[in-house]
Amino acid sequence: MKLLAIFAHPDDESFGPGGTLARYAYAGHKVGLVTLTRGEAGSVGISKTLTANELAGRRTCELHHAVKILGINYLKIGDLPDKKLAEVPDVTGIQLIQNEIDFFKPDALITFHEQGISGHPDHQTVTRWLLELIKNSREPRSLFLYGVLLEQTEQIPRRRLLPMTMAEVTHKISVSDFLDTKIEAIKAHVTQEESWQRFIQPIEKIKISARWEYFKQVWPRPGKNKDLQDSF
Ligand SMILES: [Zn+2]
Repeated sequence: MKLLAIFAHPDDESFGPGGTLARYAYAGHKVGLVTLTRGEAGSVGISKTLTANELAGRRTCELHHAVKILGINYLKIGDLPDKKLAEVPDVTGIQLIQNEIDFFKPDALITFHEQGISGHPDHQTVTRWLLELIKNSREPRSLFLYGVLLEQTEQIPRRRLLPMTMAEVTHKISVSDFLDTKIEAIKAHVTQEESWQRFIQPIEKIKISARWEYFKQVWPRPGKNKDLQDSF
């Protein structure tokens, strides 16, 4: 199986479905990642002291490191403007993603839930582009949206996250064996330490709440009353 994850920022892949990406890569599947910006507008911790160019350079290196840890086989970093994806013409964003899909030829695509997990407009824009692209695509590909449940967001009280409902979940992927890998990949994003310190502390709590990663299959539309799946 070929899996292609598409996100706005360096670190979305690790904070997001990092366990699932690592699990599929470890099992020998081809896993790719497209990150549409270089994260130059980040404003967390040390980022505040760096110029946009310096930050983009560092975050590019960090992303390469995280991708290596997760076992991802293919990485493409776009050069769209961080924090301004909503201002990019839809046709530009969609074409960029389409080119990557034409090149990588994935069976399944992954991005964030429509609410964007943290409500970040860049996340929401990428999801909107993918939904639009899939709707008009003649190729049979699946699209899965990664989301977090309320019980998971409660473990990260200092961060406002927008949960999806259990009723939306179609896939509950067990990632217990890949949690350490996910945490290592998160930590590769050194400039984002302020964010990940909030995420991983206390580590015991995260090791319980992050044992599963949840997805909503939006394409092809799943049948009603289907049991939760543990694989795509
Ligand atoms: Zn992000």
